[in-house]
Amino acid sequence: MTKQLYYQNPYQLEFDARVIGRIEKDHRMGIILDQTCFYPEGGGQPSDQGKLNQVRVYDVQKIDDNIVHFMDSELKTDIINGIVDGNRRHDFMQQHTGQHILSQALVRIGKYNTVSVHFGDTYTAIETDATEIPAKSIQAVEKLANEVIRNNLPVNILWVDPEQVEQFNIRRPPPDVEKVRIVQVGDFDASACGGLHMSHTGEVGIVKITGQEKIRGRTRIHVKIGNRALEDYSQKTEIFRELGILLTCGEDVLVKRVIDLQQQLKNAQRDVLTLQSARMTDLAEAAISKGKQIRHILFVQQILQNADHNLLKIFADRVLTLPGRLVVVFGTFNGRLNWMVSHSLGQELNLALWIKDLLPLIDAKGGGSPLLVQGVGQNPEGIQKFIENVIQKLERIESSDE
Ligand SMILES: [Zn+2]
Repeated sequence: MTKQLYYQNPYQLEFDARVIGRIEKDHRMGIILDQTCFYPEGGGQPSDQGKLNQVRVYDVQKIDDNIVHFMDSELKTDIINGIVDGNRRHDFMQQHTGQHILSQALVRIGKYNTVSVHFGDTYTAIETDATEIPAKSIQAVEKLANEVIRNNLPVNILWVDPEQVEQFNIRRPPPDVEKVRIVQVGDFDASACGGLHMSHTGEVGIVKITGQEKIRGRTRIHVKIGNRALEDYSQKTEIFRELGILLTCGEDVLVKRVIDLQQQLKNAQRDVLTLQSARMTDLAEAAISKGKQIRHILFVQQILQNADHNLLKIFADRVLTLPGRLVVVFGTFNGRLNWMVSHSLGQELNLALWIKDLLPLIDAKGGGSPLLVQGVGQNPEGIQKFIENVIQKLERIESSDE
């Protein structure tokens, strides 16, 4: 069995050891040492990483009673010098200690119990049994947790017999084991935990609750702990700086500036729509005057520059103000060819039956209803053939009617 040096001293990162076993698991070769500082994945915490004799250790797992180190390549020798990635270890020690403090603060502020925790490479989260935590309570939890950090309480680790556990008033029930590992944060918190922690709360630095979400009907809070909080602060400062430059204003008026800009955009969009509608009315009238009378049907066509489907629809509606009309309208838009066919002939014509013939002519996709079909095409050179095909179809409707 491997001696767990990380429990003796979680601050020790370098060690000497001997290989006592090699195993294969899921096509990965792993080695077992007589002692190790590498903490294996467990309790929601990712494993340590680092190097054994300069070869990278990318994963460490507890398999049966062994701690197995998985590495980039095999080791030729049994004499080992190991180094744990100190930044990663320090980060997870901060996450663990900060979480204990926050979980107790949640209990004290609102009797919110921790159901599960997530310590990931990218985020730390605490799932509570609360259906909802008011913003005021979140602020109070954050304030209390940071007070405990500032007070620099000692973090003590005790290994006790299961029957002794009761006297420690622990927050989290212990697992069914021979010896229970209890983590005491001063007289503020005690819980059963197998993870690694800072020796004093001050080393956590700071905790910041950044958000909350509903999960399985319960509230999960997202937190930035220790160096992650500082990194988060740096990133947000940079975002604010860039926004200040883009919006030419100071941080204190950023929100007001964005609200003003949103209103300006809304007004501008409304003005554009009014102008476009007027333009479509003019274009529709011109197109109607040039329309082709095919027996009792007036056929109208138009190609619009820079027109999306909304604009095509406005144009088509302007044309179809009277019965007995059919309109074909195209619009180029961001390198695409939007197209639409619509009519005011009522039940006389079902456009859904035409689409199979029309789509290949402009290499298009599309669909619709008996009264309106539309889509996007790839081949503007087929527009003339598309129009000719529609005219032919209209002529055939006529002859079958008579
Ligand atoms: Zn812990």
